[in-house]
Amino acid sequence: MDYIVAGVAPTVEEQEAERLVTSEDVFLPECLAEMLLLKWHAQFALLNFLMFMSWRPTRGLNVPSFETTSRLNPTSRTGDFSTLQETDYYDEYERSAPKPLTRDQRRSKLAAISNPDFYFPPDPEADLAEDAETNAPEPVLQRQQPRAQASFSYNEKDKNGPSHWYRVDSRCGGRYQSPILLNTSSALLVNRKRPLRLDGQTNLPQSILLQNDGHSAKFTYNWRNGDCPVLHGGPLKTKYLFDQFHFHWGVNSTVGSEHVYDYQRYPMEIHLVFYNGLYESFQEAREQVDGIAVVGMFYEIYQHSATEQLNTWTRFLRNVIAPSSEYNIPFIDTFPLYEVIGDFEWPYFTYEGSLTTPPCLETVTWIVSTKPLLVTEREMRQFRRLQSPTGQMVNNFRPVQKLNHRRVFLY
Ligand SMILES: [Zn+2]
Repeated sequence: MDYIVAGVAPTVEEQEAERLVTSEDVFLPECLAEMLLLKWHAQFALLNFLMFMSWRPTRGLNVPSFETTSRLNPTSRTGDFSTLQETDYYDEYERSAPKPLTRDQRRSKLAAISNPDFYFPPDPEADLAEDAETNAPEPVLQRQQPRAQASFSYNEKDKNGPSHWYRVDSRCGGRYQSPILLNTSSALLVNRKRPLRLDGQTNLPQSILLQNDGHSAKFTYNWRNGDCPVLHGGPLKTKYLFDQFHFHWGVNSTVGSEHVYDYQRYPMEIHLVFYNGLYESFQEAREQVDGIAVVGMFYEIYQHSATEQLNTWTRFLRNVIAPSSEYNIPFIDTFPLYEVIGDFEWPYFTYEGSLTTPPCLETVTWIVSTKPLLVTEREMRQFRRLQSPTGQMVNNFRPVQKLNHRRVFLY
């Protein structure tokens, strides 16, 4: 040590400094060893992880196999595969022995593979090879049969009835579907509420297109620029533009509405469909999570007079009795939304749900009024006179769906 060589006694400070240096000398190697050990551990863990990742099969793990997912019928995801023979497909799954796919099944399978939403099948190349082998023509009998249209029906007995809509579009099998039971006792009461507003309710359109689309009577308004009614406030974060309204009704006045309010079904329900103004059109908005808002209102029968006209616009229905027919209501006969739904101040339920017809997109903020509108039996008969492709257009309401932990608010 320096001070010994120099023969000078160390000061207190020097002694202290020396002590510190010595203790650090002792401490450092131990610390380093620990750090090295830690580093090795980390490297080893990383190596293990990398080996695991490289070993892990890229297909199959956590990913349902094609056989599993085919049970959910991926081919119906877009509902465009009208050529698909549904029953064959399902029967095929039930059987244990593999059966060659028909041409339509192969086509839809390939479409499913190319769909980015769809998980990769175990081996698409193998499927293609198999397809090439079994590329035999179909039996003539099968080809001649007119294929069931990829449409939906409200009749539970039909193959494409409400409980099979997921075959028309798999999204109809989702967890947040509409309509639902609306119960005052179980709804969450909202205390600090923003008022729900509908601007432009008394605006008159240039014309109104009335359509019998085979499932309902739909009124689509043709607005001048800036005249379109705007819905905002309440549960809505942005402004929603009016698109159309349509109805759901029953064969008689004991049924008809889609939502069930305190265990009561009403003879009819109107749906006023709005789309988020952030998007260009209804078609674009309906795919977005905040795309659609639908105002639902019930109708109850006006008992006091059989002859009184409450909804004069129902007279136009006689022009669209045939399915797929339409009628253009000229400006002179148009009527504002106010004439249909009246004042826009009522307590209402709101919840997150879906369109109630395929494709059942779960992008709808539902606003369902608790105050029913009035309709006469004579006006209801105008609706029941309409025809669907399968007969009288009645009971065009979907059965109630499970709530599945959603919350329903009462504003
Ligand atoms: Zn509807």
